[in-house]
Amino acid sequence: MRILITGGAGFIGSHLADRLLADGHEVLAYDNLITGSKANIAHLESNPRFTFVEHNVTQYIEVPGELDQIYHFASPASPIDYAEMPIQTLKVGALGTHNALGVAKAKGARMLIASTSEVYGDPLVHPQPETYWGNVNPIGPRSCYDEAKRFAEAITMAYHTHHGVETRIVRIFNTYGPRMRLNDGRAIPNFLTQALKGEPITVFGDGSQTRSFCYVSDLVEGIVRLMNSDVDSPVNVGNPTELTLLEMAERIKTMTNSASEIVYKPLPQDDPKIRRPDITKAQTYLKWEPKVGLEEGLTQTVAYFRQALLSSV
Ligand code: UDP
Repeated sequence: MRILITGGAGFIGSHLADRLLADGHEVLAYDNLITGSKANIAHLESNPRFTFVEHNVTQYIEVPGELDQIYHFASPASPIDYAEMPIQTLKVGALGTHNALGVAKAKGARMLIASTSEVYGDPLVHPQPETYWGNVNPIGPRSCYDEAKRFAEAITMAYHTHHGVETRIVRIFNTYGPRMRLNDGRAIPNFLTQALKGEPITVFGDGSQTRSFCYVSDLVEGIVRLMNSDVDSPVNVGNPTELTLLEMAERIKTMTNSASEIVYKPLPQDDPKIRRPDITKAQTYLKWEPKVGLEEGLTQTVAYFRQALLSSV
């Protein structure tokens, strides 16, 4: 197949590109590189089935030739990124999704959008099933991301029902692995960078808030299965193993043999207190569940961060 990935130079987009190329497909990766990086795809440049195009998908997307599938992954995704770039975040979730859907319609391609557990906001239902409508502050600091993704889901369903475009919606929960940026700002990259540099490990709040972290190869497997399934309603993909952020900080400190102390910083506004995916739907319809445990996933990620820190010096 000939497949477009928007955000193809990003953390998840580049892993998706690796996987689709390994499966024998042709991949076009479009990215404006505001949070993505050419380093993530440098190893693919000599592959004749891979093309990179530097483009901002909030502008008209020109794709020459035929297209079978689109994975729409372009967006800042770290809370510090979307706090710095709220307008770009809103535009890529809204205008970028609209443009990508336009390409899908024109080419007769199937399109999968990267939605998020953030559509559930600070959830009042736990764990979160796809049937939960969420608890989102529409004007808070996270709203540029949350509401853009909720709009993206809405316009995707509208293109599906009104124009008959084949669409898929994945709600991605916290994911980690190699190629996250050292300065990404999210919990695992922060803790790893701090632990490896011997700097204080910054836990926000009292660290009792929970998350459930999925290793990137598991996530990619779930996404590819969803794309090639016949499920056109949203599906959660994430790892249901839930832990507190303090537990995660301690785990990373131990794993890296770090002498760093754990320090407490104010909890950002609207930071969800709990989060864990109900993955019954993915288990039932995609026959998918995560396989990589935290120990194994963190070991891979630590190795990448050690290397990345050495090259950044
Ligand atoms: N967090 C933290 N220290 C950090 C970065 C994040 O304690 O240096 C917390 C953050 O407040 C949140 C959790 O870790 O409760 C996960 O945050 P992240 O930014 O990774 O993503 P989120 O799940 O909030 O989108």
